[in-house]
Amino acid sequence: MILLWNDTFISEDELRISKDDRGYHFGDGVYEVIKVYGASMFTAEEHIDRLYESADKIKLIIPYTKDVLQKMLYDLVETNNVIDGHIYLQITRGVVPRQHYFPSEGIEPMLLAYTKEAERPLNQFEAGVKAKFVEDVRWLRCDIKSLNLLGNVLAKQEAHEEGCYEAILHRGEKVTEGSSSNIFGIKGGVLYTHPADNFILNGITRRVILQCCKEIGIPVIEEAFTREQTLAMDELFLSSTTSEITPIIEVEGNRIGSGARGQWTEKLQESFEKKLPQAIGI
Ligand code: PMP
Repeated sequence: MILLWNDTFISEDELRISKDDRGYHFGDGVYEVIKVYGASMFTAEEHIDRLYESADKIKLIIPYTKDVLQKMLYDLVETNNVIDGHIYLQITRGVVPRQHYFPSEGIEPMLLAYTKEAERPLNQFEAGVKAKFVEDVRWLRCDIKSLNLLGNVLAKQEAHEEGCYEAILHRGEKVTEGSSSNIFGIKGGVLYTHPADNFILNGITRRVILQCCKEIGIPVIEEAFTREQTLAMDELFLSSTTSEITPIIEVEGNRIGSGARGQWTEKLQESFEKKLPQAIGI
């Protein structure tokens, strides 16, 4: 497999990561995951825009234009002959002996991108998954797609240990998002989801879903809902680049709606599917 290392394509055994990379010391960097369908990147511009926004929020300057980066990612997908899968891309503040404050000028950020072949979890899109509530103890800048994912990792592990696919995070009673996804509820034909503020990552899939709602005519209320309201939803689902639209059919032993994928979720999946570079069929 070929990797993108800064602006160079290298083989995996050529990769040399320094002990002094600030990604290791501090998780001081940002990342993106971009899905590839039928050899084409999906919503690449949106992901690249968000990467630059995240970088800007942590005062990290990416030393390439967006166009140059997009072209390098395009070449990476082509070189690795990825048909269905994704690109993982991260950029750290660079290599410098450990000190908390930023390095002085002249230290270049370190970019690494690789590809992974992965089939779409079609079964899961229909069968749905179980989830567990976990208190959201992360910091107050969840809008940044930061490499610091310890809060997310601990929540996911807690869910995983109970046989759940996802942790539904909540600050007090209010549900924010999943440990690696956004959360949506449908009640009486209306879609509810947390507003895109500093408490959640504004998912690219979330944005596509809100567009689908507009097209289908599903009213949307971007307002946080409580744990109690979560359990009383007719339908519940999560979204992410790799999980797309995945129904949540059970939360801590409580069946959501009928306990199976709901009709609105299915409609949204169909609408989402139509936007993919190559419709593959659910
Ligand atoms: N929230 C969090 C915390 C995430 O990690 C992710 C996935 N990276 C999302 C939401 C969904 O974002 P996207 O749809 O852009 O993958």
